[in-house]
Amino acid sequence: MQVFGLTAHELRRLQEAGQVRPDEIVSQLSERARQVDGKVCAYVRSDTGLSVDPSSAHAPAAGLLEGVPVSIKDNICTEGFLTECCSRILAGFKPPYDATVIKKLKAAGASIITQKTNMDEFAFGSSTENSCFGPTHNPWDLQKVPGGSSGGSAASVAADEAIIALGSDTGGSIRQPAAFCGVVGLKPTYGRVSRYGLIAFASSLDQIGPLSKDVRDCALAMKVIAGFDPQDSTSVDLPVPDYTAALDKGIKGLTVGIPSEYFVAGLDPEVKSILQEAIAKIKSLGGSFQEVSLPHTEYAVPVYYIIATAEASSNLARFDGVQYGFRAPVSSAANSMIEMYKHTRGKGFGEEAKRRILLGTFSLSHGYYDAYYLRALKVRTLIKNDFDAAFKVCDCILTPTSPTPAFGIGEKMEDPLQMYLSDIYTISANLSGIPAISVPCGFTAAGLPVGMQLLAKPFAEETLFTVAHAYEQATPWHTSKPSLAE
Ligand code: GLN
Repeated sequence: MQVFGLTAHELRRLQEAGQVRPDEIVSQLSERARQVDGKVCAYVRSDTGLSVDPSSAHAPAAGLLEGVPVSIKDNICTEGFLTECCSRILAGFKPPYDATVIKKLKAAGASIITQKTNMDEFAFGSSTENSCFGPTHNPWDLQKVPGGSSGGSAASVAADEAIIALGSDTGGSIRQPAAFCGVVGLKPTYGRVSRYGLIAFASSLDQIGPLSKDVRDCALAMKVIAGFDPQDSTSVDLPVPDYTAALDKGIKGLTVGIPSEYFVAGLDPEVKSILQEAIAKIKSLGGSFQEVSLPHTEYAVPVYYIIATAEASSNLARFDGVQYGFRAPVSSAANSMIEMYKHTRGKGFGEEAKRRILLGTFSLSHGYYDAYYLRALKVRTLIKNDFDAAFKVCDCILTPTSPTPAFGIGEKMEDPLQMYLSDIYTISANLSGIPAISVPCGFTAAGLPVGMQLLAKPFAEETLFTVAHAYEQATPWHTSKPSLAE
């Protein structure tokens, strides 16, 4: 039986019926990766198929994700397996411990795919082109980017090389690649999922979340990875709801907000009309709509790029050639410690990482801190207040995930500003700490997937699952598969 194209909940049923064993699932996925990953490049270390962390393949108890292979972004620590953030500066780094999410996945019986998925270096980007391993290709059109920075995770699920993937989302890096690759992706509420073992980009924005083939798998994965962790001081001590119980509640009685500021110039006309059809579908399922206003939307991109780069410049200071990964060889003429730092950081970081370290160091520096960083923090609060006001009149907010479908490989690399603008609809959720999901909502005439984003109040992931699942079950989009033709 061919099982690599199935979901986790389908695999679970087959296993319970004794129709497939975990080792068969792994060997099929491995064979699948051997066949297609040369084209897709979802994994960074996959030349010989896939392997899984053996300690998990034989988990004794039947867990929620028993026997389900999960691919992991290269910035989430896996004990004893390379975790390099797709950066030269972390070359050879094998963490001495598992991230909390990995421990939780293993405890639920999941098989951890050890090859790790491709990403923009340190999660800086929207296309997975800023990787020291080269780009990942979008399974729906190999000339297009998969989105980023969790492009490898999204592509691994879309190309049936993994059943579920973990990504991280600082400004849209789970949702935008999910939209570009036609899969489901969730950024949980800040504090809902432990960041312990996630190599930090911007600590006040980062969240780990799942990418999956359908909404049910996303809810299942969240049930496993969410929850309080004493090792992450920003994780929140609230009980984890039964997310799968929220799936079948139905939309009736729920009010969906449509922000006037999001359906404006810059939104691709095809994406816009696909979104309008999705809105009509949700109406037909019994949802009511309400126009809402998020007046500070225009500041989200500049505020994000000040705060995210400031935090990144501080977080990346630890990569100095002493504690982790790569150390540049220095000639005897230049053998001071400072020279070693300079050489290591100069050779170890890619272009985008250097750009962000410079930007962040500038806005945190004496004399500029008040004008940029402090002001950005104040506007961040205004953006959050906009959402608080909107959620007084609606249960969730519907927007496009990205203003365009997947763009061409190389198309935006010379123009960082254009690249930054592809996050325009996703970054406000990170600035506000609220949860947001992207679900497939159609295809362009050229056959590229389009994603719909739903946002909700802090810790209201259940509302997202309810609306997303009702919509998904009434539409065919999640059942389409890419042909992977050249
Ligand atoms: N694309 C955004 C950036 O470049 C978001 C990245 C992310 O969420 N990690 O910062």
